[in-house]
Order: sequence, then structure tokens, then C-alpha cells
Amino acid sequence: MKLDVDLDQAIRKIPDFPKPGILFYDITSVLKDPAAFAYCINEAKTWINTLKPDAIAAIDARGFLFAAPVAKDLALPLIMVRKKGKLPGKVYSEDFALEYGTDTVEVHADDVPENARVVIVDDLIATGGTLAASARLFRKGGAQLAGVFGVIGLPFLGFHTVLQDMPVKTLVDYH
Ligand code: IMP
Repeated sequence: MKLDVDLDQAIRKIPDFPKPGILFYDITSVLKDPAAFAYCINEAKTWINTLKPDAIAAIDARGFLFAAPVAKDLALPLIMVRKKGKLPGKVYSEDFALEYGTDTVEVHADDVPENARVVIVDDLIATGGTLAASARLFRKGGAQLAGVFGVIGLPFLGFHTVLQDMPVKTLVDYH
């Protein structure tokens, strides 16, 4: 399979979603394009492998789609970070600020590997708030953050500042 793909071409851009003035970067079009999806997984695997992690964590819900093949191919445990109220066991919880209000991410406390190196994967990094809160979940349980990966980055929203204490990799940035 040809892996030299134009990822930008594969990402559908939807203006005024979820509200007027916002340009939404839609990865459903990447999932439908086998070469583009394979490119994302390959690039993620290559970068994540250099960090020598012990586990991959995936952010609810689009992050699951990219993290799962990476974890499987690297033969690493896959840990689900979910939105509030979805996980049945004892959880660690972290709130983070949205433009209006707050959101909460949770992880099963038993899933956090103490003293192990975790890489967190999501589809898109904007303010970095979701990943920073997720990083706090893992640190709470005694894990170390080896790095965070996103297919798409929106650096103008400030994620490099918010995530400055860990390696960050994105495959395509929009300014
Ligand atoms: P952050 O917490 O501000 O970095 O926002 C990142 C989260 O919002 C990720 O979990 C994304 O799935 C979601 N998100 C924000 N903007 C977009 C977008 O344009 N396309 C897809 N997901 C987005």
C-alpha cells in the first residue's frame, strides 16, 4: 500500500460546525480512505515506538480508532480514557475547562500502570485541555507521561503551552 499520502486532502473540513465560525476537521473521511488511515497508524507507531512506552491510552471516542491499531501492532496494553459516567469500576476523574462550562475524563484506577510510561492518543489536539486532564489521570495513579499524539493539531489554540512538559506529536497542523 502506498503510504506517501496527502493527509490534508483526506481530512474533510466542515465550516460552522458545531457552531457558526468554527471550522470542524472531520476524520471520518480519513477512516474511509485506507491509504490515509494506514499512513496515520504507521506514523503514530513509528513515533510512539521511539518513546519506548509500556502502554497506550486512548481518548473517547475518536482517539480509540487510532490508538487501538497502534497498541495492537506494538503489542502494548490499551487503556481507555472515557467521558464521565461510562466506566463501571473505580475511577480517577479529572475536570477540565471548555469554552463554556467543564468536561470530565475518567480512567479505571486499576488500569493505570504504576511507574510505567504511557503515551496518550487522540484524533485532534486543540487547546490541549483534554490531553492535559488525561495526563493528570495517569500521574494521579503513579504512571509517567511518555508523550501525547494527535493526528491533527491546532497550535493557534495553544496546546504547545498547555502540554509543554511532555513530548507532543501531530501529523498535520492547521493555523
Ligand atoms: P482540546 O481539549 O481543546 O485539545 O480539544 C480536543 C478534543 O476536542 C479532542 O478530543 C477532539 O476529538 C475534539 N475536537 C475539537 N475540535 C475538533 C475538530 O475540529 N474535529 C474533531 N475533533 C475536535
